Amino acid sequence: MSNIKHNKKRFLSHMPVADHLSVKGHLPVKDNLSVEDNMKKSKQAQLHQDFNTAKVSRREFIKVAAAIGVVAQAPFFLVAAHAQTTSAQEYDYVVIGAGSAGCAVAARLSEDSASKVLVLEAGPADANDYIHIPATFPFLFKSPLDWNYTSVPQTALNGGTLYIPRGKVFGGSSSINAMIYQRGHSSTYDTWSETNPGWSYADVLPFFKKSESNSRGESAAHGGNGPLNVSELNDPNPITLAMLKASKEAGYPMNDDFNDGDQEGIGMYQVTQKNGRRESAAVSYLHPAIEANRLTAQADAMVLKIVITNGRATGVTFLADGKEHTVTARKEVILCAGTINSPQILMTSGIGPKDHLKEHGIAVIHDLPSVGQNLQDHFMMPVVYTCTQPVSLSQAGSKEQAKLYAKGKGMLSSNIAEAGGFLKIDPQSPAPDLQFHFSPGYFILDGAANPTDGSDGFTIMPSLVQSKGTGTVKLASADPSIKPLIDHNIFQNEKDYDVLIAGVKIARKIIAASALDGFRGEEYLPGLAVQTDEDIKTYINKYIQTIYHPVGTCKMGSDNMAVVDYKLRVHGIGNLRIADASIMPTIINANTNAPSIMIGEKCADMIRNA
Ligand SMILES: Cc1cc2nc3c(=O)[nH]c(=O)nc-3n(C[C@H](O)[C@H](O)[C@H](O)COP(=O)(O)OP(=O)(O)OC[C@H]3O[C@@H](n4cnc5c(N)ncnc54)[C@H](O)[C@@H]3O)c2cc1C
Repeated sequence: MSNIKHNKKRFLSHMPVADHLSVKGHLPVKDNLSVEDNMKKSKQAQLHQDFNTAKVSRREFIKVAAAIGVVAQAPFFLVAAHAQTTSAQEYDYVVIGAGSAGCAVAARLSEDSASKVLVLEAGPADANDYIHIPATFPFLFKSPLDWNYTSVPQTALNGGTLYIPRGKVFGGSSSINAMIYQRGHSSTYDTWSETNPGWSYADVLPFFKKSESNSRGESAAHGGNGPLNVSELNDPNPITLAMLKASKEAGYPMNDDFNDGDQEGIGMYQVTQKNGRRESAAVSYLHPAIEANRLTAQADAMVLKIVITNGRATGVTFLADGKEHTVTARKEVILCAGTINSPQILMTSGIGPKDHLKEHGIAVIHDLPSVGQNLQDHFMMPVVYTCTQPVSLSQAGSKEQAKLYAKGKGMLSSNIAEAGGFLKIDPQSPAPDLQFHFSPGYFILDGAANPTDGSDGFTIMPSLVQSKGTGTVKLASADPSIKPLIDHNIFQNEKDYDVLIAGVKIARKIIAASALDGFRGEEYLPGLAVQTDEDIKTYINKYIQTIYHPVGTCKMGSDNMAVVDYKLRVHGIGNLRIADASIMPTIINANTNAPSIMIGEKCADMIRNA
């Protein structure tokens, strides 16, 4: 490692906070305003007035507000626009969690005007600007908008732990994610469908398309009219473009669309963005439904348990304003709290492995041994180089970049992992088992170990996307506010190292190609001293992290390890479905947001057409 200053405590230091953008959340107070400031102030006042009198849409408001530097005030107005409270005690459908899948389920159910729909979200409305300005999402790590989970000590990592961010806000993890739009290899869905009718890739494709509005337009593979905007990155970084050229030079195939046909190859990612702003599930599904008064979405409402009466889900108990409330679900409860919280809520409600529930003094309503089992995730580690030109994301906080961002361009519109691709290391694997993420900036240990001296760098992240092991989510307590115990059981199969070791070698080969001559500085990590497979393995154990894709803890199927059936109905309990990433029987080999939204779309469709 070079002698660049390096501070593990400071978080995501590649990007100085852009004070002039006021992204910290407070507008600077000035006594003597300049002419420029005065103009800004009157524009702000006009904009706020227009927003409050509904002359500008919320989207327009955010765009304009960012442009004139008032993003810090947006929270107050946006919260006012979107925070709701339940005005009724009874609904047809109660959706738990306004995340990727939950927003899709709730919005689609609410299209039936006869249905009364309530969404309960533990976090606040999505007013924080770090959500909407793409490159600032890592500032949300370990913030109040993050459940901020940590795994239990991992044996293979000599007791080291893994950080597991999860969005706690309208949009859930889609409000804090890296916006990469991927569906995963078709063979995974085809395997699911062997025991789950209706889940082959051909079966789920219409739901991917229904959700999507791709800037390339409608095609056999893509949707053109869905709520979720998918587009090219507005302003790819020159280092990213050089990394693509270098990959080609190193002999790897290029891929222009990972979601149509062959997944293998390297290319730019399409992203869930429009005009350089994040398209979360909240922006695309929930806000329009709220604005049309089709449903009630209550923020800061922490669900404590599902009420089960005579073997059927009849309501939900939640905490809001320091008080417990119970609402009745006349038709169904749909649990969309994500891979960590959905099994936790089931267990605190008395549905789960009998002995484990008893251990925590929870009355067993239904013994379902599989709840919280089958945890799967993706893992990555960084190959990092310093950069010889001041063009990496370390420069994203400059005034010039703020100006560019007012037009939806520049580094602030970067999703950080701008490009990447898929390769097959194990020839027996039906789908690529190695994914790359290319970042034109430092990204070391979730950004927490980035250099803090403002220097430039870039990172290739080889990522294990077909890990052979599974882990668990277990209760630490019957108290729903106590974080559960998450055990990834990482590297229980030694073969998983082989894929990552190969990934480090490929990353170095790509970076050595002449297309990167104008940017390549010295190897920062693993460092030139790390050469043998054994050295690389030691490095991996120190620098491995998750890619934030936990799935599988409420697995779909009909075997004794399944929690829900192919219609997402919880085995043994009536009127209760689960729709989120937790139902995936096996992990797909790519980023998991679009599949979670697809699961939400399909769930709503199954309910409406039951
Ligand atoms: C940092 C990060 C980067 C990522 N990058 C990408 C990417 O680039 N591309 C991609 O495809 N995927 C990415 N992912 C993964 C993807 O975002 C998730 O797989 C997906 O959002 C999961 O959707 P979900 O509906 O299962 O859960 P979530 O979206 O997490 O939603 C669960 C919701 O339930 C709420 N909730 C939980 N418990 C309760 C309770 N007790 N009461 C009320 N509400 C509750 C939560 O607050 C949350 O809003 C990333 C994830 C993270 C965290």
